[in-house]
Amino acid sequence: MLDAAFFRRWMTATASAVDREAARLTDLDSAIGDADHGANLQRGFTAVTAVLEKEAPDTPGAVLALAGRQLISTVGGASGPLYGTLLRRTGKALGDRAEVSREELATALGDGVAAVAQLGGAAAGDKTMLDALLPAVEALGESFAAAGAAAEAGALATVPLQARKGRASYLGERSIGHQDPGATSSALLIGALQEAAA
Ligand code: ADP
Ligand code: MG
Ligand code: MG
Repeated sequence: MLDAAFFRRWMTATASAVDREAARLTDLDSAIGDADHGANLQRGFTAVTAVLEKEAPDTPGAVLALAGRQLISTVGGASGPLYGTLLRRTGKALGDRAEVSREELATALGDGVAAVAQLGGAAAGDKTMLDALLPAVEALGESFAAAGAAAEAGALATVPLQARKGRASYLGERSIGHQDPGATSSALLIGALQEAAA
């Protein structure tokens, strides 16, 4: 079973991955966006780590709700409200249980991803974070490792797509041939989940 400490580990592992990959995220965003995705998420997840350390929420739902609120209030770009909504809605779906199973997390994360799709109006294949998150949720029913691999594959599969949402969509066909920054950071988020479970 997954307790609050597991979810705090997930968030700190995400912060470390974002720190490690910030330059790459910014490079990807400089090709089809405004070159701030690495900095946006570094600011956000640094703040998430700090607030979780300070407040130490004691249920999985409370950890994710607090992390989500923190992302919304610290990240200016499109990704802040989207990732914030993902974590808040997932946390809400977990309720106030002290421990949850991987299967329950998969269902809750499905709610979170659906909320992201609703907020941003994007669907599978639009070359956004959803292209990593949707297959990851599907695979999380099987295992953490499968989810990590599915997110990674989903991010890679954005390369040949034309962006239909977000800043990259302004480029039209010129967005083809580049990996989506948000799908790439989503693969880091799911990779960190796999790490927290290991
Ligand atoms: P901004 O584009 O405001 O600078 P970021 O660079 O932090 O924000 O994030 C860009 C990423 O956000 C994109 O690569 C994409 O994955 C994701 N994104 C943008 N718009 C949407 C949307 N409407 N739905 C889902 N994801 C989106
Ligand atoms: Mg950007
Ligand atoms: Mg921006």
